[in-house]
Amino acid sequence: MIIVLIGPPGAGKGTQASRLAYTLNVPHVASGDLLRAVSVQDTPLGQQVKSYMVAGQLVPDDLALRIVEERLAQPDAANGVVLDGFPRTLQQAHRLDDVLAGDGRRGVDVAIYIEAAREVVLERMRARRRDDETPEVQVKRYDVYEHDTLPLVAYYRERGTLASINGEQPIDAVTRDIAATVRAHSVGGNSAGADALKPAATAIQAHE
Ligand code: AMP
Repeated sequence: MIIVLIGPPGAGKGTQASRLAYTLNVPHVASGDLLRAVSVQDTPLGQQVKSYMVAGQLVPDDLALRIVEERLAQPDAANGVVLDGFPRTLQQAHRLDDVLAGDGRRGVDVAIYIEAAREVVLERMRARRRDDETPEVQVKRYDVYEHDTLPLVAYYRERGTLASINGEQPIDAVTRDIAATVRAHSVGGNSAGADALKPAATAIQAHE
């Protein structure tokens, strides 16, 4: 299964993506982590990526796509992935569809929208602020999300693959809702990994 997680910064996407990937036994592909690995390299590309990241801006679509595409081509991604932080623009979503179609894959099976209000996520971000992240950058990250990424909700809704989850609930409740959603989307299909969701509650609790 190809699962995409969408949500504002601070909505808990990383935690949920990691839990879901563990349960489905597919890789958790976080574009932010892939880009952070590039940004620490002392190369012109590394410096360029870093300058976008520290400012709370998105790196150019081509770059984000290239890095995720390379990851999707790894053998362990053949049965599916949980994508966290990608796509983040409509252009990336279109191009992801093209890449998947070009590989003969079915496309995005479920886009999970973890919904949480601006004030809620800004408060969470304030509480866990990293040293390299000023309050201004946090607000910038939220604004970029609203402007560039939120349109993906309509994109996936039109394709019938969107599932909205209340991201203001406690973490375990969000995890439960996501597992139920993915299970519902895989009923009738023969999606790899979907069976793993049957004992989801136990597997999820055992993880972490
Ligand atoms: P994240 O860890 O997902 O919050 O991502 C951290 C930073 O990496 C973002 O603020 C962007 O600068 C960059 N980034 C991550 N994913 C993407 C993407 N799909 N497109 C463009 N930039 C991205």
